Amino acid sequence: MGVRSEELGDSGTLMYPSRIKLPYTWHAGKVGSRFYQEIRDNCKIWGTKCPQCERVYLPPRETCPRCFCNIDEWVDVGDIGTLLTYTVIRYAVPGIQPQEPPYALGIIQLDGASTGLMHLLGEVELDNIRVGMRLKAVFRDAREGNYLDIKYFRPLGS
Ligand SMILES: [Zn+2]
Repeated sequence: MGVRSEELGDSGTLMYPSRIKLPYTWHAGKVGSRFYQEIRDNCKIWGTKCPQCERVYLPPRETCPRCFCNIDEWVDVGDIGTLLTYTVIRYAVPGIQPQEPPYALGIIQLDGASTGLMHLLGEVELDNIRVGMRLKAVFRDAREGNYLDIKYFRPLGS
């Protein structure tokens, strides 16, 4: 095949030099498109509500994973919620992180939703983050129709 392998030690394990470059276009779909468009155009966060179990999914879903029924009701879930859990990222992984570490990622349950949304936490000292704290979405001034149109969630009242 023209690729030269290199043996490693006594184990006989082989290594092959390689390179992966994988550009792609991600299709947001009908539900995802509306979700991102509402954030971009109106600074509104919408979920979808199951007609049977009445759970409100955020991010929105087209099908309820519990009831297996189609969902077509949209609900404005507001921009204020509660921090369910979080983690602090301290290690740099160049090229794939939304910002330079250290930074915090949380799962926020907005008041109108039944599920949590993962996002960045901002305007808060990392040592002061607490599960249960109230948070509010901060939107970017220049929005492009993607997840980072929500800049981060900040503590309510800060
Ligand atoms: Zn359901």
